[in-house]
Amino acid sequence: MPTTQTARTPILTLPPDVAERIAAGEVIERPVSVVKELVENAIDADAHEIRVEIRGGGLRLIRVTDDGYGIPEDELERACARHSTSKISSVEDLSHLHTLGFRGEALASIATVSELTLLSRAIETEEMGEEHAAALITFRNGEVTQRARRARLHGTTVTVRDLFYNVPARLKFMRDPRTEGGHITQLMRRFAVGYPGIRFHLTIEERQVLQTSGTGNLATTLAELYHLPLAEMLNALSFRSSEEGGAQSFELNGYIGNRALAQASRQHITLFINGRLVQSRPLQSALEAGYAGLLPKGKHPLLVLRIDLPAEELDANVHPAKTEVKLAREAGVAAAVTKTIRAVLERSPALPEDMQLPGPALVYQRRLHVPYRRGLRVAESAHEYPASPGAAEVLATLRPLAQLQQAVILAEAPDGSLYLIDQHRAHERVIYEHLRRVYTGAGVQPGEQEEQWAESHLLLEPVIVELKRHEAELFEQRLPILRGLGLECERFGGRSFLVRSVPNSAGQEQLVGYLPELARIASEDSNEWQDRLLIGLACRSALRRGRELGIDEQRSLISALASASAPAVCPHGSPILLHYSRTFLVDKFDW
Ligand code: ADP
Ligand code: MG
Repeated sequence: MPTTQTARTPILTLPPDVAERIAAGEVIERPVSVVKELVENAIDADAHEIRVEIRGGGLRLIRVTDDGYGIPEDELERACARHSTSKISSVEDLSHLHTLGFRGEALASIATVSELTLLSRAIETEEMGEEHAAALITFRNGEVTQRARRARLHGTTVTVRDLFYNVPARLKFMRDPRTEGGHITQLMRRFAVGYPGIRFHLTIEERQVLQTSGTGNLATTLAELYHLPLAEMLNALSFRSSEEGGAQSFELNGYIGNRALAQASRQHITLFINGRLVQSRPLQSALEAGYAGLLPKGKHPLLVLRIDLPAEELDANVHPAKTEVKLAREAGVAAAVTKTIRAVLERSPALPEDMQLPGPALVYQRRLHVPYRRGLRVAESAHEYPASPGAAEVLATLRPLAQLQQAVILAEAPDGSLYLIDQHRAHERVIYEHLRRVYTGAGVQPGEQEEQWAESHLLLEPVIVELKRHEAELFEQRLPILRGLGLECERFGGRSFLVRSVPNSAGQEQLVGYLPELARIASEDSNEWQDRLLIGLACRSALRRGRELGIDEQRSLISALASASAPAVCPHGSPILLHYSRTFLVDKFDW
């Protein structure tokens, strides 16, 4: 690890042949680049605690304080000169770096675009018991503008003021302090997970936005950063390569969050190689190949991966900001990354379609491929979905066993196979088909109309819904249709309507809260409104997940589902049933 340098070596100016070998280019592009360089310096100095303070999005002030080994007074000025570093001295050193820094350019670059103050006390002066042994130096316009001494314990405080004051082109692009604050927060979160043994503090515009306790435990650090009890949501990643053909081994360590923690962005993926926060396209692809198909589509995990390999196998000298690296055994490392992530995610709840046949399988899966068709679907009937062999018969024979997580009914089929039934979607399907029958029945078969009109549940307190002017007109025209569905409404003057009743169902109480939403659907100016309203009514009145069901309720839900024309898929097109065949059990248990 880069932090294991024990005795500090003096800061010297690199000889030209070494300086020439260093990837040249702009290091300080924006405030977050300053923070990165200063925090890396603190880590290289063996700090246990690093505090970062930001004002004005980093343009007014960036201050990084550490308790590292400090800089002796007589080296302070040289620390800010170009190509001056204590970390390497020869070309060979470049091929086995043990520190994050090595270019000797960060402080020099910062000094040219800001007012830079260094206050530092070397750890050895403390041992000698000197007082006021911290030295201070300020640079502005490339000149020393202040020298002083202060009292402080060992460590270094670097203060950067008025960043880019002399680079108007840069300033123009830095309008929003919140954007910069966001980048800095992200960076600090990453350092915190890369170095769980260091206490990090970050204050932005006088608000503390991040704090870790430096326990050394990565899971604890993650919980501190995300303010979540993460213990059960994280899966540990670990892999150690075997030493074949004399190649030295490498190690992978870290955590990946489970499905529930998946995010729409890659912001919470952090990759460290030998303690270096890096971006690497090949490894990024390897990571993604690891979770592809195992997390919801388009989602990315909370993931921290630390790769440790022999220093000589990592070339960090390819990019001025040191964010890109080259690996000697890249293909091998990438393959291990993919494999390690997949292995872990495959053990934690996976999507059925990724599992090996013979199951569990989505029942009547082909129905899921029937695209959701916009428009009125009241004509939907069994013949649109070629009946699966014995679909309804199987459901009619299921015996409920129990309820899982108050959301899923477990049921046994006569052949000994297991069915999982999503209770909310099952009920939604049942209500939807019922409402649809009512709807199509109305006016078509007057004889059946009486019994098929949805029964309505009178609300003790009518609900007032307010619509926009053009909505109110359409809504009023549709009042008779709505009444047929059990939604008794009347105009209440202006654009307001009174809802007096809702369709009678187990979920009628919860429906009340959704009346404004449903009224808006019922006044949509499109010819999909009827179907959307039926789906809305079904969804909002269906049993929720989290509702406990007795065995009798489970049985009656299953039998209602058995008489549905499309029992495997909810009106939104999501699966209702999962089937673990007997063959699956025999196969997996090795019976
Ligand atoms: P580099 O990190 O590449 O060596 P820098 O310009 O970032 O170059 O820093 C120059 C030198 O200043 C470092 O080599 C180190 O000796 C010293 N230095 C900078 N920051 C610190 C710090 N926080 N604690 C101790 N020494 C520091
Ligand atoms: Mg540095």
